Amino acid sequence: MRESLLPAAAADLSEGQAPPSEGHFTVLDPATEQPIASVADHDAHYALEQISRATSAGATWAATTPRHRADIMHNVYDLLLENRDRLASVITREMGKTLKEAAGEVQYSADYVRWYAEELVRPGGTYRDNPHGGSTILTKRSPVGLAVLISPWNFPMAMITRKIAPAIASGSPAIAKPAGLTPLTTLLTVELMVQAGVPEELVRVVTTTQASEFSATVLNDSRVRKLSFTGSTQVGSTLLGLASKNIIKSSMELGGNAPFIVFDDADLDRAIAGAVAAKLRNGGQSCIAANRFYVQEGIADDFLQGFSEQMGGISLGPGEEESTQLGPMIDRRAVQRLQGVVDDAVAKGAIIRAGGKAPEGPGYFFEATVLENVVPDSQAFQNEIFGPIAPVRRFSTQAEVLEAANDTPFGLAGYVFSENLDRALNVADALETGLVGINQGVPSNAAAPFGGLKQSGMGREGSAEGLEEYQEVRFYNIARRDTH
Ligand code: NAD
Repeated sequence: MRESLLPAAAADLSEGQAPPSEGHFTVLDPATEQPIASVADHDAHYALEQISRATSAGATWAATTPRHRADIMHNVYDLLLENRDRLASVITREMGKTLKEAAGEVQYSADYVRWYAEELVRPGGTYRDNPHGGSTILTKRSPVGLAVLISPWNFPMAMITRKIAPAIASGSPAIAKPAGLTPLTTLLTVELMVQAGVPEELVRVVTTTQASEFSATVLNDSRVRKLSFTGSTQVGSTLLGLASKNIIKSSMELGGNAPFIVFDDADLDRAIAGAVAAKLRNGGQSCIAANRFYVQEGIADDFLQGFSEQMGGISLGPGEEESTQLGPMIDRRAVQRLQGVVDDAVAKGAIIRAGGKAPEGPGYFFEATVLENVVPDSQAFQNEIFGPIAPVRRFSTQAEVLEAANDTPFGLAGYVFSENLDRALNVADALETGLVGINQGVPSNAAAPFGGLKQSGMGREGSAEGLEEYQEVRFYNIARRDTH
């Protein structure tokens, strides 16, 4: 990678420059397993310093007008898109997805910035008469205060941007901790935000491999008023425990196990296209990726045939190559885990209809895979797969499939394919998930309140609800007496 593409805070290692110095960690390209860059491995003391800096800047920022903040955020939107190729290149290099998908992630991320720039100039409050008479109640929304934002590696730009955008829109300062596997995109995104006019001290990035020390220290600091986390349910649960000490307002975007349900009355081509999109977006490394495929008996043979053909024809390769449809997985552990998922399913009677293995390296690749006759107690159905494996089961009735679909502690996304609108809506209503894709495989949108039920999380990102996560509602009760 040419040095100019990297964020200023990273040292380029792609041309074989000196290995990282002490106090730094290395970022690898998952397509080649070669180092790309090194960044500072900050300790907890550094994180506390950033809290001080952001807190001071936050006081000034909170006093600015919504119009001022919106104008800066519109500039951010423009600058992120002007740098779309550069951002996409960094995303692809450190995370692996194809350049086309990475460019899509840049647009998707920028959409949140624009959406909140548009939303924040309509600061809502309410006027309510006391139902007993004698007073009037006014409500207003105030910035929550310093927010700690922790993001995962799978969408290294979108997951942090959809936290930073509502935080700064609300008037709050933030500390951003990206995943250790993908720190470059966050550094570059925030660098561009600052170039576009966001005060440099307002959003501080802490790159670190010492995640537990980071969270134990910052969540113990009484200046922190908000925690927003995207990642695994296990880590989310630990962080909620830490946040409970100081009663920190928390949002959690956690793991999923999405059912993908195809009824006999579905449009077959639409269902297959939706299945490929919902499974292979981001190489399957998405929290809303279709995880458990349930296909009704009357359409199952045709669906499996068409779906397996398309999945079997998917070309693997580095995300930078134009012909690539499926880039590498994030690391070697992921590939080993995926092989375990296939082996477990096959040992329990599944048939491989496409893919099924990891090709020779270098690079952490895994084939787009379709498994038929997968039993419910297999790993593929029980766990979040987080890779390009589609386990399929047949079902006969709506009641049967709903019971199976909801039989999980997770509740993030679900998918329903049926040309019968009554059926599609009835099934969507009965699914215990925060969002449902109906006859489509990619339901996310900056204007929609993204988030999960059950152990998939709490709170929402995107839309007006996403801004409320960074606000506190307060009221003034104004006494009134009759005047004559
Ligand atoms: P992860 O939980 O391992 O890590 C997420 C982030 O938390 C990383 O930045 C990591 O460094 C940090 N972290 C880990 N332990 C920590 C600790 N003790 N204290 C503070 N920070 C800590 O998850 P991951 O492997 O990066 O991401 C995959 C998971 O994220 C999947 O389960 C996926 O479903 C979920 N996810 C959810 C959403 C959503 O919106 N619901 C979106 C994307 C990913």
